[in-house]
Amino acid sequence: MVISDIALHFPKNLSEAIRLLGELEEARVLAGGTDLLIEIKQGLVMVKNLISLKKIKELKGIEKKGNRIRMGALSTLEEVMSDPLINQYIPALADAAASMASFQIRSMATVGGNISSAVPSADLPPTLIAAEATVELHCSDSSREVSLSEFFTGPREMICGKGELLTSVFIPLPPDETGIAFQKFALREASALAVVNVASKLTIKKGKIERALIVLGAVAPTPVLASKASGLLCGNKPSDSLFEKAALTAREEGNPISDIRGSIWHRKELIQVLTRRTLDEALSQVQGKLRRGK
Ligand SMILES: Cc1cc2nc3c(=O)[nH]c(=O)nc-3n(C[C@H](O)[C@H](O)[C@H](O)COP(=O)(O)OP(=O)(O)OC[C@H]3O[C@@H](n4cnc5c(N)ncnc54)[C@H](O)[C@@H]3O)c2cc1C
Repeated sequence: MVISDIALHFPKNLSEAIRLLGELEEARVLAGGTDLLIEIKQGLVMVKNLISLKKIKELKGIEKKGNRIRMGALSTLEEVMSDPLINQYIPALADAAASMASFQIRSMATVGGNISSAVPSADLPPTLIAAEATVELHCSDSSREVSLSEFFTGPREMICGKGELLTSVFIPLPPDETGIAFQKFALREASALAVVNVASKLTIKKGKIERALIVLGAVAPTPVLASKASGLLCGNKPSDSLFEKAALTAREEGNPISDIRGSIWHRKELIQVLTRRTLDEALSQVQGKLRRGK
């Protein structure tokens, strides 16, 4: 498809963007374009109209709002990586953003685009789901907030209806004594999609794990909340043997495919190894906070 055949629109605010999305024929939203423009050039997506979000101020910025962090959908991966709030409260999200692509791509690519592309190997969703994030969706006459864990319905499929825009991501500030860690295995150091990625969150109270969430990426059509492995941790004291058992259980909760980047066996091995690493790292974060008396 020739890109010059497509009409490009630059709405100045959210309501104009939503109106255009409802009115225009074969219209798609354009954020950083690092995913969509490639798909269009490869003929995988046919569009007549692209609605750029670039000029919409409401979609920008990362800020603290009450007991949550709000990330505008247009926040770029470079902004996420360097944001003081993200680095203070959810450093794993900065790690996930830093693991992606190259400086050039990260400067264009957005949080909203990474989520809305709904690619199984996307790097932000596992950490966001582990952090219990919600997303705000807007359409012409209403808005709703849904848990990110319920957002994805299949590869490149989500609950977002036609004419609906993802406007913000909300992350609750993690309770004290909480650690969240992200790990990714890719075939190269830079600019490579995840073969497997894992994010884990641990909240520890009085020496016992009060809450645990292990989320696996690139091992099923949508991110997988490894509920058996997470449940196994709760109520117990963290230990090597417990973490090993949880990692082994998580290994069976993924449902990976064999493809050009890895076999089913390799991906299962990776789930186990990366889960163990994220649990160790999340625990170290909690222990570090306790030492500093936070
Ligand atoms: C070389 C290269 C390396 C990459 N490496 C990685 C990697 O390591 N990890 C990774 O996860 N991804 C990677 N990607 C994929 C891509 O860069 C990211 O997914 C990026 O975050 C997409 O964001 P974007 O703003 O560019 O989205 P766009 O391309 O603009 O949009 C993607 C999709 O989301 C929709 N969309 C965008 N914003 C919204 C919104 N606010 N509401 C509703 N729908 C919306 C668009 O209509 C489109 O369907 C890579 C891409 C390239 C080209």
